[in-house]
Amino acid sequence: MKTLKIATIPGDGVGKEIMPEAVRVLEKVAEVHGGLKFEFTEFPYSCDYYLEHGVMMPDDGLDRLSQFDSIFLGAVGDASKVPDHISLWGLLLKIRKEFQQEINIRPAKLFKGIEPKLSNRNPFDMVIVRENSEGEYSSIGGRIFHDDNEIAIQNNVFSKRATKQAMNIAFDLASKRKGLVTSATKSNGIFHAMPFWDEIFKEVSGQYPDIKTESKHIDALAAYFVTHPQDLDVVVASNLFGDILSDLGAAIMGSIGIAPSANLNLNGKYPSMFEPVHGSAPDIAGQGIANPIGQIWTAKMLLEFNGEEEIAEHLLKVIEDVTADGYQTGDLGGKYKMTEVTDEIIKRLGK
Ligand code: ATP
Ligand code: MG
Repeated sequence: MKTLKIATIPGDGVGKEIMPEAVRVLEKVAEVHGGLKFEFTEFPYSCDYYLEHGVMMPDDGLDRLSQFDSIFLGAVGDASKVPDHISLWGLLLKIRKEFQQEINIRPAKLFKGIEPKLSNRNPFDMVIVRENSEGEYSSIGGRIFHDDNEIAIQNNVFSKRATKQAMNIAFDLASKRKGLVTSATKSNGIFHAMPFWDEIFKEVSGQYPDIKTESKHIDALAAYFVTHPQDLDVVVASNLFGDILSDLGAAIMGSIGIAPSANLNLNGKYPSMFEPVHGSAPDIAGQGIANPIGQIWTAKMLLEFNGEEEIAEHLLKVIEDVTADGYQTGDLGGKYKMTEVTDEIIKRLGK
């Protein structure tokens, strides 16, 4: 019997509603597949926790979380209670940084039965691999004055190790998918960092002779996401480019309420963290109408990156079947409530 120890952090707003839905689904998955067990431990770290304790998590919070195989997060942040920079840096970004979660993975896929956001109606299925720790989001830089002109300088930092790591993940994923890796570059404009990025892309691609590759400038690639998403498979991008592309990816899926993500620790020293792309959605919280699929698809990624790929694929297929048959929440134009969608997924998992 394999036991996965999962720390759950439901967080704020709809996070508190959709987390129990995904836990219900994972418990059903364990029941159906045998040989696999989950041990869930819930942590109340959230804006309400902050209002009570003055911190988003206690001093030993990271120590406690580090004991788990994975962290499963709902949504953190509620600007009406706690300023976003406090909730973000006090929990989410702290975990990502301290647990060296240097890779962010976000699939983007058009499910059958979902009305596309684009006039291009071709089904698409891609994964964005974003370098999550360096690149354009560095703290190196500052301000200077030159001829009475105030100037801000922001340095990009690209290490060979982290760049290669992101690319290796992208090629490994592509080898299990459609066999294409697209690199987001801008070597015609950013002429120290991006030629370096391109060089490493070429070097890594040499280790994967069966994988097709292409490089596209970030501006053209953004347009390509809109015009040809069906022609993409795995997209590898730096921290800023990946940030932008993954929001674009989520936007063209039909609703942000279904998009999942994984923050991966690859050195095995700390747990990875899995969270839906959307935030705490205070506008719809507490009404039972949130789309649970973002959290449930995120549970699929948790299974996938804990070595349970077959079970993960089965869960994704069930999610897609349920969506295709019209069990959809209001954000997708459907009439079903959150629990009704989950119930249908659980029912079909049992078959
Ligand atoms: P954050 O800043 O925390 O990333 P945000 O304030 O930018 O988040 P969200 O909280 O993700 O944005 O909400 C954006 C919109 O998407 C809102 O209208 C919200 O109702 C909707 N939304 C978010 N999550 C869901 C969901 N699970 N189901 C349905 N609608 C959702
Ligand atoms: Mg918000």
